[in-house]
Amino acid sequence: MSELQPIQTPSSDRMREASRVLADAAASGGTLDLSRGKPAAAQLDLANDILTDPVWARTGGADCRTYGDPHGIPEMLAFWEEVTGIPRGRIRTGGNSSLRMMYDAMARAVMFGMPDSPCPWYEVHDRKFLCPAPGYDRHFRITETMGFTLIPIRMTDEGPDMDEVAGWVSDPTVKGIWCVPKYHNPTGAVYSRETIRRLATMDTAAPDFTVFFDNAYAVHGFCGAGEPVPDILRMADEAGHPNRVLYFASTSKITFPGGGVAMFAAGEQNLAYADRYLSAQSIGPDRLNQLRTVRHIERCGGIRPLMARHAAIIRPKFDRLFATLHRNLDGTGYARWTEPEGGYFSSLDTLPGKARRVWELCRSAGVILTPPGATFPYGKDPADTNLRLAPTCATAEEVEAAARILCAAILVASGET
Ligand code: PMP
Repeated sequence: MSELQPIQTPSSDRMREASRVLADAAASGGTLDLSRGKPAAAQLDLANDILTDPVWARTGGADCRTYGDPHGIPEMLAFWEEVTGIPRGRIRTGGNSSLRMMYDAMARAVMFGMPDSPCPWYEVHDRKFLCPAPGYDRHFRITETMGFTLIPIRMTDEGPDMDEVAGWVSDPTVKGIWCVPKYHNPTGAVYSRETIRRLATMDTAAPDFTVFFDNAYAVHGFCGAGEPVPDILRMADEAGHPNRVLYFASTSKITFPGGGVAMFAAGEQNLAYADRYLSAQSIGPDRLNQLRTVRHIERCGGIRPLMARHAAIIRPKFDRLFATLHRNLDGTGYARWTEPEGGYFSSLDTLPGKARRVWELCRSAGVILTPPGATFPYGKDPADTNLRLAPTCATAEEVEAAARILCAAILVASGET
């Protein structure tokens, strides 16, 4: 994307007003938080019946109070099949966190390699991982922790810039890429079919190049669940890369974050390989939580009605955010932002070199934003332009108040030389 350019210098009255908004906010001593990509309490309340469900026998009577179903209870596997379109035999459920499953998968590859690896990844000198940016800081941290060099890849409206990706994958030390195919964190981009096709089918110098495909927001549209993500596992299989993709998701933004059920899916050989290590790691998943989770979703009438209730809570907050940004910034050329159709975030770009200053001005005025740079590998945004906005946890009124202050900070920072 091209660099932002100022269009019109706002009037001195407008700049004075912006300074006043910041000063008043600082004097009020209040705090408004747009930093956390978490459901609001009203969303968590939707799942409260999980807390009082005493049932422990699943359909057919199997006792979920004890070990069993090492891949997950059949009802949970059926749920993930419905959400992802992946046959249940290809799905494994884990504990409460998909991020942990990603970490574990990466740790397995580093320690032991993948099925097609010439050697464990720890033996690969200067191993590299592709990180579409702006992107999800916790993905980047997993690969940073495991000693990869992180390579930023430009994000477009259709996913990572695949020409840039194609340039990198001719290097055999490039072992994989992080992907959030639907409502990408933080831009909200939905990968195009062509992007997904290229990820699945491209030639790579590393025989064990792996797409870490994190479909965290599979059913999180603001107006319906949105188009299902094309079946990348099948595409890779048909292109002769059956071990190319590891697929992840969780119910963290469907029921309780940190209290839900994570899943992982892969091609047959990859799955058999992972099973060897997973069965050494644990006897099986928390079947009680799985049972309670699927029973809750059933009581809501299924995943779509439940997600419509989430959307009804979330959507007005995004609407307020965007309306406030438009009202205060249109015509200035001082910022641009994404307006996704789902997910938990919007990504805002300031003029080059201004994001940190905007963040500081916001902080002094009591508005907490995710630290600048967080959306880039190593926490460093080379152009200092990107800020992640997370409006879901605040009320709609708080979002509007915070956005007003953010706009004032952008006006003031952009006017500074
Ligand atoms: N992936 C993405 C893209 C996310 O945005 C988040 C939460 N912010 C997670 C994973 C975390 O998922 P989990 O709670 O299942 O670990």
